Amino acid sequence: MTGLVVVSNRVADPGARQASGGLAVCLLDALRNRGGMWFGWNGQLVADESEIAPSCVKHGRCTLMTIPLTERDHREFYLGFSNEVLWPIHHYRLDLAHFTLEAAEGYRRVNARFADVLTPHLRRTDLIWVHDYHLIPLGAELRSRGVGNEIGFFLHIPFPPPEVLTAVPEYEWLVNSLLDYDLVGFQTAADHANFCRFVCEILGGEMISTDTMRVSGKYLKAGVFPVGIDVDSFVAMAQDPVARRRIQRTERHGKQRIYAIGVDRLDYSKGLPEKFRAFRRLLDSYPEDSKPMTLIQVASPSRDDLQAYIDIRHELEAMSGKINGAFGDFDWTPLRYIHRSVARETLAVHYRASRIGLVTPLRDGMNLVAKEYVAAQDGADPGVLILSRFAGAAEDLQEALIVNPYDIDEVAHAMRRAIEMRKEERIERHQALMKRIRHHDACNWMLSFLRALRSCRGRLRAKLVVGPPLALANAPAKLIAR
Ligand code: UDP
Repeated sequence: MTGLVVVSNRVADPGARQASGGLAVCLLDALRNRGGMWFGWNGQLVADESEIAPSCVKHGRCTLMTIPLTERDHREFYLGFSNEVLWPIHHYRLDLAHFTLEAAEGYRRVNARFADVLTPHLRRTDLIWVHDYHLIPLGAELRSRGVGNEIGFFLHIPFPPPEVLTAVPEYEWLVNSLLDYDLVGFQTAADHANFCRFVCEILGGEMISTDTMRVSGKYLKAGVFPVGIDVDSFVAMAQDPVARRRIQRTERHGKQRIYAIGVDRLDYSKGLPEKFRAFRRLLDSYPEDSKPMTLIQVASPSRDDLQAYIDIRHELEAMSGKINGAFGDFDWTPLRYIHRSVARETLAVHYRASRIGLVTPLRDGMNLVAKEYVAAQDGADPGVLILSRFAGAAEDLQEALIVNPYDIDEVAHAMRRAIEMRKEERIERHQALMKRIRHHDACNWMLSFLRALRSCRGRLRAKLVVGPPLALANAPAKLIAR
């Protein structure tokens, strides 16, 4: 039977089922059922490469294989190239990208090491599924070690248009390395279209059907696979009676208020300062003393060893202090700003208790919080989702109030509209949104990707021109030599 090999920067913890997202749970279930391996970084750092040894833990038919990174790898591969070059650029933030040759080298080095460690563990029949921007060249590295298996890649973050990508030194090499996969998956049709444009306009490839392209004699499939959540488990969590009673107790001490909730990693792509400005605009638009609603904003800590993240944290702390200072009262804190990670079960209950879900990233691959908010609602009296048009989720969740997060007035207006929206309209929108998130749930995402990857079997490989992987053949000499 074909085994599945999942490779990602971090490996999910099978012991923390509740804490893992729907995607991790689905992948772990698939690995347990069909047998396979999940390989990635264990989150630990060692001083020197000589201390790197893989460790394997068995969970039934699934093996988790992990390795540590060196401190240098962490600086260059993880913080440097992955999070200070690829993350900002894929989120259209050229102004925040810091490119150095050391970081690019570190990125190549760690991808090569992942391939070195993984290759001896692969069986000919395994399907290999590589995840996300940390590991773009892994497929090419595996090919250069003679791996002929079907290898798929899924990009969880946006794929920007060529006009943005071409600003990155080494980008042509990097996109070239995607051509050594059999299947490349994207979150949205817009990301897919940007990738096809890059391949055709910059790399001189051609589309031979809507999902297959040919470049320099190589064939590649690219498709759209929007990630989703485990809807039923979220519905159940949101109805947990113990947690609901706890919230009701807290609310009894205060006045009955309308709550809006935002849950984001503290990341510049999430549009948090813009969201706070829009909230302030809303408060300004109401008469004094009216206290229209309370915004609960969870901003969970993220990458706080990078300057851009430290800067935005300071900005948000100052903004929330100013809003509460200007509008707060003895019985009202307009903005409850929570800078820590909150358990998913707790989030689910707060989503349900909030009339508005405020999801306004400036750019986001998908945004699962938007889907979780919808799943958590009481169908008989649901809240309203306000969703940025720049979140991948907006391509599908059209019954949300779709806003431009840069337009403070528009977002403030949407909040007002959500506060005033009649129950019938809320129910109608919610029913349509539930259908959509059920259609694109976590398991459908996984199954449709694996089905597409399996269908590549033999078909595309047979057409391969024998030779070195294109990505490595085209890699800048300075990167190959080192
Ligand atoms: N999340 C969480 N606790 C927090 C903040 C977020 O469990 O304090 C979860 C949230 O429920 C969601 C995920 O983290 O499942 C965030 O996913 P999303 O796609 O919205 O954004 P990302 O962080 O991947 O950019």
